[in-house]
Amino acid sequence: MLVSRDQIARNYREVCTTVGPQVDVACVVKADAYGHGALEVARVVVAEGARWLAVSSVDEGVNLRCGGVRQPRVLVMGGFLDYEADALAEYDLTPTVHSFGQMHDLDRLAHAWGKPLPFHLKIDSGMGRLGTRASAPEILAEIHDVHHARLEGLMTHFASAADYTTTQTDDQLAYFHRICRELEQAGFNALRLHTSSTNAIGYGRKAGWHNMVRAGHALYGYVSPARGESPRQLLKVRPALTWKAKLLAVKDIPEGALVGYGGTFRAPRPMRIGILGAGYADGLFHRLSNRGKVIADGKLTSILGTISMDLTTIDLSHTTALGPGAEVTLLGNEGDVHLDAQQIARVAGTISYNILCSISARVRRVYV
Ligand SMILES: *Cc1c(COP(=O)(O)O)cnc(C)c1O
Repeated sequence: MLVSRDQIARNYREVCTTVGPQVDVACVVKADAYGHGALEVARVVVAEGARWLAVSSVDEGVNLRCGGVRQPRVLVMGGFLDYEADALAEYDLTPTVHSFGQMHDLDRLAHAWGKPLPFHLKIDSGMGRLGTRASAPEILAEIHDVHHARLEGLMTHFASAADYTTTQTDDQLAYFHRICRELEQAGFNALRLHTSSTNAIGYGRKAGWHNMVRAGHALYGYVSPARGESPRQLLKVRPALTWKAKLLAVKDIPEGALVGYGGTFRAPRPMRIGILGAGYADGLFHRLSNRGKVIADGKLTSILGTISMDLTTIDLSHTTALGPGAEVTLLGNEGDVHLDAQQIARVAGTISYNILCSISARVRRVYV
């Protein structure tokens, strides 16, 4: 698998240009940077000037620090559990806090470490996942007792930012803004406010950009398709990843031959087939059996039969150019034939995020 550092850098710059210089772009590198490699991606965006990274767990944050990522702030979006609290202070990670209990735990930790640990409070504005559902007066009453940890930011997350058939995003923003206003009136007026991830950036929901956005998918070259009457998509980003697998064997089979586990494919005519050294253990979705495509010798061609753990059979009847050792593209471009994670996701019945995150650790990452 090849990851283009230049393309990641271009995508990052595109997000920065789109939101403008007043808005910080936190680069979301959770889940090993959606399969692209968190450390490598972090190095690329930090070299481009990124001052914030965002991960899901404390472990992911610690891994960045241990990999030598020193300068940028690291926001841990999933918060922390009791036994992880010390690591926040030790590795200089900034937690998202989504309950008052956590806020007070962090306050005690800050006291014990003698450091003013900053944290971002997550508001559940209607996603119904992480975040406090407390009102502004309740938040203010609790913060009154926090003396060592420091409220640095307020955030929320949208459930449906690319969906223009519902008012959910506007409703969430209105809720979030009401809380921000009341906290500002109480003197918290220099907070980092952030609500937008890729889709809210791409579809220009500017009221949700505030002074920071959190971009993941866009860095990797994707913006989800919109539902309903959406505005023009603003981000000109492109996939940075090319996934290839090698042919282990090429052979001719007669009409009527069965292919793979369960004999789910029967050759309707004499065919040339190729056996690829990649299967579901590499992240090729089992659901693509008898449905998915790959690019071989510059043409889209079909996956034949059931995808196995380590092997996948494809139709090579259109070419004699490929033999054992030749490469076939599972995700990427050959000439002007494209196969991206969104196309694959449609066939596999999932979303592009799921395709990218599923490319397993067994697949060697090469950075170009
Ligand atoms: C994953 C995540 C993001 C990034 O979302 P993208 O759609 O990949 O840009 C932003 N914020 C939170 C809270 C997330 O969990």
